[in-house]
Amino acid sequence: MQPLRGTKDILPYEIIYWQDIYMKASAILSLHNYSEIRTPIIESTELFKRSIGEMTDIIHKEMYTFTDQSNRSITLRPEGTAGIARAFISNKLYQSNLQKFWYFGPMFRYERPQSGRQRQFHQLGIECIGSINPMADVEVIHLANKILNEFKLYDYILEINSIGNLEERQKYETDLIEYLSKYKKDLDQDSQKRLYSNPLRILDSKHIKTQEIVQYAPNLNKYLNKTSIEHFDLVCTYLNNLKINYKINYNLVRGLDYYNNTAFEIKTVCQNSQNTICGGGRYDTLIEQLGGPRTPAVGWAIGLERVLKIIDQRWQLAQKNTYIYIATQGLEAKKQVWSIVKNLENEKLRFELDLSNSNFQKQIQKASKIGAKFCMIIGEEEINNKKITIRILDEHKQYSVAYSQVKEEIHRLKNILSS
Ligand code: ATP
Ligand code: MG
Repeated sequence: MQPLRGTKDILPYEIIYWQDIYMKASAILSLHNYSEIRTPIIESTELFKRSIGEMTDIIHKEMYTFTDQSNRSITLRPEGTAGIARAFISNKLYQSNLQKFWYFGPMFRYERPQSGRQRQFHQLGIECIGSINPMADVEVIHLANKILNEFKLYDYILEINSIGNLEERQKYETDLIEYLSKYKKDLDQDSQKRLYSNPLRILDSKHIKTQEIVQYAPNLNKYLNKTSIEHFDLVCTYLNNLKINYKINYNLVRGLDYYNNTAFEIKTVCQNSQNTICGGGRYDTLIEQLGGPRTPAVGWAIGLERVLKIIDQRWQLAQKNTYIYIATQGLEAKKQVWSIVKNLENEKLRFELDLSNSNFQKQIQKASKIGAKFCMIIGEEEINNKKITIRILDEHKQYSVAYSQVKEEIHRLKNILSS
């Protein structure tokens, strides 16, 4: 049996990186008053259609959708923001004026699997809900920057744009379609299909010929009104004040419909087509569109597989050591051993209890193999003399400790091991 195409097992030697990412992100985000939120992996299909947009790639061809036993259409979440907006409304979280959330979890998209592109992948994301202030945009970007630096990632570029509001975009789209129609037959096939349904996406086509055509297309920033321009200018000013490097990319649009004004992506400098590690922006109308009160918001999501691909060679994480091994022989020893287990638990010493019926020699070999420092031995002789034997594995020495002294001895070992 093989895992499903585009899915991967995360094995114990890799999980330490995931745990480290989780802890590092959690530490930074809680300092900034962000709280973790966990929403369901399944939601109604309608939620995604109404938020991400019918004409986007995600809705059009990437969703894992099924009908459940009650004939409801259910979708495995392809991203985190829609579920959080839904949770914000269902739980009436709008009663407090600002909510800051972060999340970490699996997302599902039916895409062509390749390096950095899976069908089940993981995102770390944040949402700052309730502020229209450009300071909020900059605070979330600052946090992406801080978190990536904490992951020891520095060689990336932040690209930013303003995609204005719906009205501005509609005017722009009309003109863009008019311009692109003239070159329709020269556009790549995907772009031809998108010409009337989602023309903005043509702007970030990777096709050389399409890119050449797009170069002379009307520019969205010329269609922005005063409020949108002021917002964008302030975002840029604050980024300058924070000394965050960025590049304005007037062709940057996002693949989801709910964004307005600020849109940004963080790309690594490597020449790889899966080099976007973070995407985000403002979504001031999403919550209202889903039936909640009008609430502006801004956020981003980092693709963790793409981050891990770059950083796992740089991280030297210490594997946790198992310090103590417990070897027993005979039924009486196996009855006695549990009080030792409890003492080790109390001292919070990492141990492994041998669960085989092998002889002592084999058990002690196993202890050395996993790198334990001490092996506690209980056999017939120990039972008869009410003691246990402790073997110092590196030194091939051993000594005995009376039952009554075991607790103190374990405490002493703990001190040796932690010094
Ligand atoms: P792309 O253009 O690469 O498909 P996207 O615009 O669809 O990305 P977003 O929806 O903005 O991606 O998701 C945010 C981040 O999540 C991306 O920048 C990327 O790092 C990661 N991501 C998205 N789709 C996948 C996937 N199928 N496998 C792994 N990571 C992904
Ligand atoms: Mg995509």
